Amino acid sequence: MKLLKHIGGLLLILVAVIVVRTFMHTPPPMADVTPVNIEIDADSAAKHLSESITYRTVSNQSEADKNDAAFLGFIRWVKDTYPAVNNELELVMLNQTMLYKWQGSDESLKPILITGHYDVVPVIPGSEDKWEHPPYEGKIVDGIVWGRGALDDKSGVVGILEATTFLIADGFKPARTIYLSFGHDEEVGGPEGAGAVTAYLKENNVQLAWSLDEGSFLFKGMFPGVDNLIAAINVAEKGSVTLDIVATAAGGHSSMPPKNNAVGVLAKAINKLEENPMPGGLQGLSAIMFDGISRYFDFPMRMLFANRWLFDGVIDSQLSNVTFANAMLRTTTAPTMLSGSVKTNVLPIEAIATVNFRVHPRDTPESVQAYVESIVADEQISVRTRGGRGASDVSSWEADGFDLIGRSLREVYGDVAVTPGLIILSWVSRHMFR
Ligand SMILES: [Zn+2]
Repeated sequence: MKLLKHIGGLLLILVAVIVVRTFMHTPPPMADVTPVNIEIDADSAAKHLSESITYRTVSNQSEADKNDAAFLGFIRWVKDTYPAVNNELELVMLNQTMLYKWQGSDESLKPILITGHYDVVPVIPGSEDKWEHPPYEGKIVDGIVWGRGALDDKSGVVGILEATTFLIADGFKPARTIYLSFGHDEEVGGPEGAGAVTAYLKENNVQLAWSLDEGSFLFKGMFPGVDNLIAAINVAEKGSVTLDIVATAAGGHSSMPPKNNAVGVLAKAINKLEENPMPGGLQGLSAIMFDGISRYFDFPMRMLFANRWLFDGVIDSQLSNVTFANAMLRTTTAPTMLSGSVKTNVLPIEAIATVNFRVHPRDTPESVQAYVESIVADEQISVRTRGGRGASDVSSWEADGFDLIGRSLREVYGDVAVTPGLIILSWVSRHMFR
């Protein structure tokens, strides 16, 4: 009886700790934020974005296909449409990339760089009729601007130009020097744009405090139960590695198949890979990210995140079931291509599955391959790499620049869940963006 009482007492304490911690796991107070009310002429901004889309500033893999007139036209359009920016700021042309400098009054402050790009990816030949609205007309339908670059990334360029115009009209004079760069070749890697900007800043001994590029959004409805906008300020980009899983076996005729057919062996290997995702979890960047977002969850979910010392296992399996969250937690595994025999009645000597991995900053291309080899371990299986690259370095989310961007977001949008994030798309998927 006494023992039961003790157990009961301990349980009560445990429940009390869990509940108290949950009630303390709340968003940062809005009282610390001074809301600003910015009156933007949305129709005019939308019209400008629409106009910008009509310039066919397409980056092709082959330089010969480049429509130079479109690029020069776009540059001309920026100067004509944003005269205040062009008069107040100093423009340096680096090839066809525009670099504006807005001189600050305090030379002791390191400058910042805000960037976007105005080149776009080509429209896949033959897909024109699949566009709901033509790609280069910039149609505005029901309050939405349609066309190539509407999102990636003319919205970024036009947004920066609109904001700068607004600030100039408002009489704003920066203390810190601000650079604005509008790249012309980002979609082909940026050698003559971002590359030239970097070289130019280096030559002029400009050490930046921080820089902000495209790559994230204000998300709504990403997590069930979270009504607030989620603003992920991305501090790293995932890498991408592709491996061929190769099963070998004796060939022969399909009338007398051996037990260990290459296709069967390969199927087992793929199965193992799918059942054993790369390890991941709430550490480092992922931990900080979900700590911020979970403060907006409803009570039961918040309880889990407020008491990770107890519920980490539950959290891991819960998050792993949400496709988006899973991609934030670990290197993902995606079998994409298969090949086997070339004839219906010939046994394959080799069966190959191609698997694409999106590499989390916690892993490297080498560690991914080593893990895959350990999972598919079989004498009939070998793993060949098709190459790839690891994740980017991770920028600090404790730096002043991060804090400033987060605070600005809350000043403008109210109680937004600000969190460091991870770019999970890399160029292949980005090409599918409008
Ligand atoms: Zn882009």
